[in-house]
Amino acid sequence: MPTPVEVQLAAAPLHREDAVRAAGDLLAHAGLAQPSYVDSLLQRERVATTYLGQGVAIPHGMVEDKHLVHHTGLAVLQVPGGVPWGVDAEGRAQTAHLVVAIAAASDEHIALLRRLTRLMRDETVIARLVHTSDAADIVRALTGEAADAGAPPPVADLPLGTDLTLNYPSGLHARPAGQWAQTLRRFAATVQVRCGDQVADARSVASLLSLGAGRGAQLRLSAAGADAAEALDALRDAIVRLGDEETRQAELAAARQAHAQGLGRELGDWQPEARQVFSGIAASPGLVIGTLVAADAAAPEVDDRPGTPAAQATALDHALTAALLQLQALAAAARQRGAADQAAIFGAHIELLADPALLREVSRTVLQGHGAAWAWQRRLAERVAAQRALPDATLAARAADLQDAGDRVLRHLLGQGEALEAHPLAHLPEDAILVADDLPPSLTAQIDPKRVRGFCTARGGPTAHSAILARSLGLPAVVAAGAGVLAAPAGGVTAILDGYRGRLHVAPTAAALQQAQAMIERLARRRDDEARSRLEPATTTDGHRFEIAANVNRADQVAHTLACGAEGVGLMRTEFLFLERDHVPDEEAQYTVYRDMVQALQGRPLIVRTLDIGGDKQVPHLALPHEDNPFLGVRGARLCLRREDLLVPQLRALYRAAAHGPLSVMFPMISTVEEVTELRARMEAVRLQVGGPVLPVGIMIEVPSAALLADRLAAHVDFFSIGTNDLTQYTLAVDRQHPELAGLADSLHPSVLRLIARTVEGAQRHGRWVGVCGGLAGEPLGAALLAGLGVHELSMSSGDIGTVKALLRRHSLAELQALARRALDCDTADEVRALGAALRAATAEAA
Ligand code: PEP
Ligand code: MG
Repeated sequence: MPTPVEVQLAAAPLHREDAVRAAGDLLAHAGLAQPSYVDSLLQRERVATTYLGQGVAIPHGMVEDKHLVHHTGLAVLQVPGGVPWGVDAEGRAQTAHLVVAIAAASDEHIALLRRLTRLMRDETVIARLVHTSDAADIVRALTGEAADAGAPPPVADLPLGTDLTLNYPSGLHARPAGQWAQTLRRFAATVQVRCGDQVADARSVASLLSLGAGRGAQLRLSAAGADAAEALDALRDAIVRLGDEETRQAELAAARQAHAQGLGRELGDWQPEARQVFSGIAASPGLVIGTLVAADAAAPEVDDRPGTPAAQATALDHALTAALLQLQALAAAARQRGAADQAAIFGAHIELLADPALLREVSRTVLQGHGAAWAWQRRLAERVAAQRALPDATLAARAADLQDAGDRVLRHLLGQGEALEAHPLAHLPEDAILVADDLPPSLTAQIDPKRVRGFCTARGGPTAHSAILARSLGLPAVVAAGAGVLAAPAGGVTAILDGYRGRLHVAPTAAALQQAQAMIERLARRRDDEARSRLEPATTTDGHRFEIAANVNRADQVAHTLACGAEGVGLMRTEFLFLERDHVPDEEAQYTVYRDMVQALQGRPLIVRTLDIGGDKQVPHLALPHEDNPFLGVRGARLCLRREDLLVPQLRALYRAAAHGPLSVMFPMISTVEEVTELRARMEAVRLQVGGPVLPVGIMIEVPSAALLADRLAAHVDFFSIGTNDLTQYTLAVDRQHPELAGLADSLHPSVLRLIARTVEGAQRHGRWVGVCGGLAGEPLGAALLAGLGVHELSMSSGDIGTVKALLRRHSLAELQALARRALDCDTADEVRALGAALRAATAEAA
């Protein structure tokens, strides 16, 4: 179906807001979006400019407002006289003549955008459209065949290729893009990534980001050169592997947001009275009182000072090296402080600067006779503007990182590099609320939370790195509050920053200050109560206690996990030790990691799962033979049994670590009794070699054969831990990563629940303990059913613990058992879900 395009010819809006409103009204009038979509368009303009270039602006709504769109379509406002849109990075005025507002329900508008960018390459076409008196001309240009005339030929893939769906919840952003680029460093092949008809150099972070690849994007990876096949495999593996971490991060963010919303409700409709109030987007929760301080660094002045190309190239080289060294030092210092988030951001900036495409463009400009600083600033500004114009808000927010990393190089080029060494926020009052146009992420990473209470920016977005950092530092932040906030009287003026509802109240009345203080104390009490409740055991109303543990892989996450209420670690996946390196970690390296984990837990239980490689977890440096069907191949315990060189060092390291505290060993992907007896025999041989203690040995129940044989397997082990992720995929014959079938892989399916019930029965016959470490344990309804089915322990992501504990505490064991019995009697997963409606309602009420 052709995309509807509404056109208003010869419009004469007074200013940008006027134009955006008119275009939004057109969308609403055409039935493409609700009238309130206009607010979303305006909000976007505050977060990022939508000026594309060549007199074209593309207002579009915020991602979270997609529900306001009825159908994908466009509204074009032709403004022959032009409407001022803003200024570019060099202060030049931008004037829009074609305002193309987009209502996008899905990704269909991407094709239109592409067409638009192609049109923009031809100034005469744009000039014609700006003055045409025939609306059909514009419609044809945007949607018809004519617009394709003169389009460049389709981009060719390289000879060797593979297709992939991007399953990152936040799309392709700087951190994973940096890791893709890094993966390819070992190879000589040329590798490119195509998304639709956009192609990126897979070694260039900026080029990858400019693909605008959102969640679910279809990618074609292709390569040429001697090691093309290996490079392609490595890249594909890296992309898939990073998906888990991306999902985990997104879940963590969602959990934090849900928690913040719960606290924010305490504020009710309280509106402190103040001289001025600015509204923006609530980017990091919290309520504080402080002193306003302006924190904008003036953009450096750059003149075009051409010199010989050789001298300019040397200057650029020195500046880049100096910037990289600074970033490496900042990343190392952040790591030392244990601030992994901050280190990751500096790492991403290093990747952004190592971008060959940007360097090529700058070199070309220098060769055209321009100075290095001027060329750098100009090319960087183009990149930043292109990034900011991406339709995906998360990706657009990465423009701030590009600007930040690029400005660092620029300052070195201008001889101001040393100034960057000085702490930029050294002389602040102890209760500063920073106000800035947009805070560069590297500056945010250096904020001292003892002096800074929060910040408010005119621009920026909730997914920008400065907002992410604010959340991890626990600093309230409001972003996109509009340019007016910059005129707020900084220096000595008191303000209330409300990071729950996105407001800055400047110069509040004495009464408002008093109320704010009382509110802050109330929120602190509520947080304390919650923290206490998370630490209480999950004991049902009739006195039955369930063990609640966390799935954690690293010792440095233990403190956080315990604060979330975990009573131990129910699953430590050890694959990461192999996935993160480009070589096999030796016994010593593994011992250190396991020992640190045991020590961090200070006597609490720890279950370490032996290597579960294969299936979705591929390790390129193991060079395992290709399998057509890796989920049904040499995976988990099957691999360990075939590779003594992997099994023995791991078991030796585990026995040695067990000398420092409790540790149980668990084998994954068990499908037969023989595997268990063989593994136990090998374990015992290693134990005797090492002189280690006898350890509890368990297996994961994640294959239907293991669940069905649970009564037999239980005779050979000390415990079971049910892996519901794999048990679901193998029971329902649905690849757990399949993009289309994901909905079918439902762990609440009665067939999966029946296998769990059978596992528990089998364990009971031998008095064995049963835990669950798959995803079902962390879902409220799942946890309730598992508890009712008779498991002893639930192990989950740390963020889920508070909710699950609170839920179990609200019910009796008898109620949970009755619920489980009814679920076992259902025909479908939907029927099981329906049983949980009452539970969900109760959980939401308590949240
Ligand atoms: C599972 O399969 O449920 C499980 C916990 O293991 P993994 O997700 O690591 O395969
Ligand atoms: Mg598994």
